[in-house]
Amino acid sequence: MRIGILALQGAFAEHAAMLQRIGAECFEIRKVADLDGQEMDGLVVPGGESTVMTKLLHGLKLFEPLRREITGGLPVLGTCAGLILLAGRVEGGRPCFACMDITAKRNAYGRQLGSFETEAPFAGLGTVPMVFVRGPYIESAGKNVRVLARVDGHIVAARQGNMLVTAFHPELSRDERIHRYFLKMAEGYGREKSAVETHCG
Ligand code: GLN
Repeated sequence: MRIGILALQGAFAEHAAMLQRIGAECFEIRKVADLDGQEMDGLVVPGGESTVMTKLLHGLKLFEPLRREITGGLPVLGTCAGLILLAGRVEGGRPCFACMDITAKRNAYGRQLGSFETEAPFAGLGTVPMVFVRGPYIESAGKNVRVLARVDGHIVAARQGNMLVTAFHPELSRDERIHRYFLKMAEGYGREKSAVETHCG
């Protein structure tokens, strides 16, 4: 599995470390040339500052090629700011990739409670630790979105097709289950791709 990690800003190194630990190969995406000739089975859009990342994505001309990959079905894991970048609607802000039928609320927990750790049930995985760092939550989700976890009644993890998002930072805990779940999505995508290639060849 080869996973591209958007590495413009924020918590990307921790994603790479965790994915490598569970057997994936990773490469960092900082400019368009980093995508040249790369096999990519999945993409991580990490936490950071969503407004800064949006500006950088456009300024560096990464927005279009990455959006094309995501809408084409490439598995993507968006964490925290990454969730905001994938959201179709952002309360009080502008959407970026706008691929997912969710409304994200930025800095949803206020200043005092901005950063905290908790644990909560995650569909199919059991109880997982959740590290929040000035995170968003999902205010509403369309009918094609599967809600995977809630904290205090608010949606904090969801999936739509090959897009998986968490409002928290799974890469900042020691629990690898969410990254393993994402790698399974990437594996499935690789299998589909090679089936099409075989069929067409
Ligand atoms: N508060 C940040 C934003 O709105 C997200 C924080 C994070 O990714 N840890 O973009």
